[in-house]
Amino acid sequence: MSIKVNLIKIKNTFSNPKCTLVAVSKTQPIPALKEAYDLGIRDFGENKVQEMVEKQAELPDDVRWHMIGHLQTNKVKYIASFVYLIHGVDSLKILKEINKQAKKVDRIIPCLLQIYIAKEESKFGLDENELEEIITGNEIQSFQNIKIIGLMGMATFTENSDIVRSEFKSLYKLFTDLKIRNLPSNFKMKELSMGMSGDYIIAQKEGSTMVRIGTAIFGERNYK
Ligand SMILES: *Cc1c(COP(=O)(O)O)cnc(C)c1O
Repeated sequence: MSIKVNLIKIKNTFSNPKCTLVAVSKTQPIPALKEAYDLGIRDFGENKVQEMVEKQAELPDDVRWHMIGHLQTNKVKYIASFVYLIHGVDSLKILKEINKQAKKVDRIIPCLLQIYIAKEESKFGLDENELEEIITGNEIQSFQNIKIIGLMGMATFTENSDIVRSEFKSLYKLFTDLKIRNLPSNFKMKELSMGMSGDYIIAQKEGSTMVRIGTAIFGERNYK
C-alpha cells in the first residue's frame, strides 16, 4: 500500500473532518516523511528526542512536531526551541523542566497532560488524584512558559471495542469536566488527543480532536 492511498482511506473514515491527523513517523525513514509532507501532512509525531531532532533538520520549517512519547527531563532542552506540542506530560517535574527550557528560548510551549485510562500496567499517565494535585497545587501557577491545552490518553490494546470505547468515554468526560472548571490561567482545555491506527474511529466518535496514526499510514514499523 502507498502512503497516498492510506491517507485517502483514513480521511474517508474520519467522522470529524476537523480532527487533527498527527502522522506518527517514529522509526520511519526521512523519505517516507517527505512523501507524506508532499501529500499535505504537516503534523508529525515522534517518540524519541534524538530522532525528532534529526528529522526536524531534514524537513521543511512549517512542520509541526508533536512529541508523543515519554519525555525525560534531561532531554527537554533539545526540542524546546521547535516542538509544537508535547503530548505525554505526566508529572509536575517534567512540566517544571519544560517551563524552564521554554523560558530560555522565550517560548510558551503547549502541553497535554497524559491520563492513565488503560488496564495495562505498562502505560504511563496520571491518575485522577495526581491530576488534581497538579491542577490545585501552587507551583503550576508560576509556570508562565507552558500552556496546558488539553489531555492525551491511550486505550488498552485489545480487540474488545467495548473496553476501548468505555476508556475513551471516561477520558472525554474528564476533559469536558475540566473545561467547565475554574483552572489556573495557564490552562485552556481545547485538545483531546486520543486514537491510534487500531482505534481512532472509536476515538473520534467519542470526542477526540487529535488522532495519532502511524502504521495505518506508513505500514509496519521496523525496529532496529
Ligand atoms: C506509536 C504510537 C502511536 C501510533 O501507533 P499506531 O498503532 O502505529 O498508529 C500513537 N501514539 C503513541 C503514544 C505512540 O507511541
